[in-house]
Amino acid sequence: MTSEALSDEAVFAAFPGVLIDRDNIAHYRGIIAGKLLINRCSGCGYWVYPHRPLCPQCLSWDVQATEVSGRGKVFMFTLIQQQRDPNNRLREPIIAAAVELVEQNGLRYLARIVNCLPDEVRPDMPVQLTWIAHEGQVSMPAFEPMPAWEG
Ligand SMILES: [Zn+2]
Repeated sequence: MTSEALSDEAVFAAFPGVLIDRDNIAHYRGIIAGKLLINRCSGCGYWVYPHRPLCPQCLSWDVQATEVSGRGKVFMFTLIQQQRDPNNRLREPIIAAAVELVEQNGLRYLARIVNCLPDEVRPDMPVQLTWIAHEGQVSMPAFEPMPAWEG
């Protein structure tokens, strides 16, 4: 089954508790398909994120979910120490980051940084897209240090 074939109801069911609307549903369909899609203006090429139906640059309504390269750099990050789920044996803080994607200045996607110790993450650290697999759930986008990165 292709992601395009998924009904809206199937996308809603895959992300319980997430507010999904007509502007971001293609993004979530992409996640199910293992692709990171960001809305992009067909008129001028501007990446529109957070997802909105209208390009803020040229006011075109022709905005299409488009796959990004998955490369970027850490713009800012924080360490989440709170153990939200008592059944989840969390042993180290979660690194939550705004990753500035290479596609456009200021295009920042919020995701976890993984495969990196908390004291090794740095602003401007080059990162690439990876996926966090959870049993029985949709794999979620995250970022990991680029292989060449040595601090
Ligand atoms: Zn535009």
